[in-house]
Amino acid sequence: MIGEDAKGAVERTVAGVVGTGSPVPLRVVAWQRRAEVLTHPKLPCLAEFHTLNLSAGCPNECRYCYAQSYAHHPGWGTVAYYANALEKLRGELARLRVAPRLVYFSTASEPFVPAERVLDDLYAIMAMLLERGVALLISTKGVIPDRFVALFARYPGRVHVQVGITTERDSARALIEPRAASVAERLDNLARLAGAGVSCEARVDPLAPGLTDTGENLKALADALARVGVRRAVASFLFLRWGIKFPNDLRLDGWSSGAMRRLYTHKVTNYCGGGTIWLPPAAYRSERLAAFESLARERGIEVVVCRCKNADLPGARCCHPTEALGAGPEEKTLEPGTARKRATDPGPAEGSGEQLTIF
Ligand code: SF4
Repeated sequence: MIGEDAKGAVERTVAGVVGTGSPVPLRVVAWQRRAEVLTHPKLPCLAEFHTLNLSAGCPNECRYCYAQSYAHHPGWGTVAYYANALEKLRGELARLRVAPRLVYFSTASEPFVPAERVLDDLYAIMAMLLERGVALLISTKGVIPDRFVALFARYPGRVHVQVGITTERDSARALIEPRAASVAERLDNLARLAGAGVSCEARVDPLAPGLTDTGENLKALADALARVGVRRAVASFLFLRWGIKFPNDLRLDGWSSGAMRRLYTHKVTNYCGGGTIWLPPAAYRSERLAAFESLARERGIEVVVCRCKNADLPGARCCHPTEALGAGPEEKTLEPGTARKRATDPGPAEGSGEQLTIF
């Protein structure tokens, strides 16, 4: 489905064939959001900016997803889309004294939900923000329709897209991200973005030990990224924590998730955003990430290792290139008299709960 436009993606959804790993059709329902649309991410490196989740729930069903533990997550197979987000955003922007410098799409959902009505609203929201001089930082494992690439190309230096991709092997992708875009579709995203002059990079995160961090996988991935013109990548490992229901029974070509879990012996407390996470030991992460950096560098790709998840590794940096978008810390932006409890994320799934539409 390389290069297919949004309409094709919607037809694919309605036919109930999204990705390759699940026979259950994706259900997209419309909710009315009560809370503010623009919130502040809890991630320290993004806390000064805004994020916008256009839906609760996510079509991609990544096995390592943390958002599935949120109270308002509608359950896998359902995406609750905020049908009033565009209208609410207009009102929020009108009340702001200073426009947001940067909006991040998104902390707990896939921005490019493959349903035409959702994509229409997303397009209108992104276009409205760009017209007002707001920079967009976008992270996706979906298919980016051509009309969005054309929109981003009209605002050079104002949009940066991170395309999540950790393997060139689609069987491995389907195992851990069963309903996300295929490897070919994600490489095609990167090729079309780079071809249109849109700032973009590969988000090689999360690497799964023994599955996607092998020398063979990393070399094939570096080759594939270089072929589509990628010049920068960010990398990090899968982490485990409370709320992540990573299955113990995944298997592929001699790899098993049960064996992988035994590597998770390194405890990080007060992880960025709070809480405790588990990772492979520093020596393991350091060796595998250095291997990828070396392979990538040989192919002209610079690799940044995520600092939040690797504070114990030298040279790790912020994996969100906000400086590249000219976005310094934001000022206090509310008009006097409209001060209210600062909306933070997560908690993106507030809505009426009323199912308005199935499409
Ligand atoms: S793309 Fe992100 S929010 Fe969506 S399922 Fe995967 S990890 Fe969760």
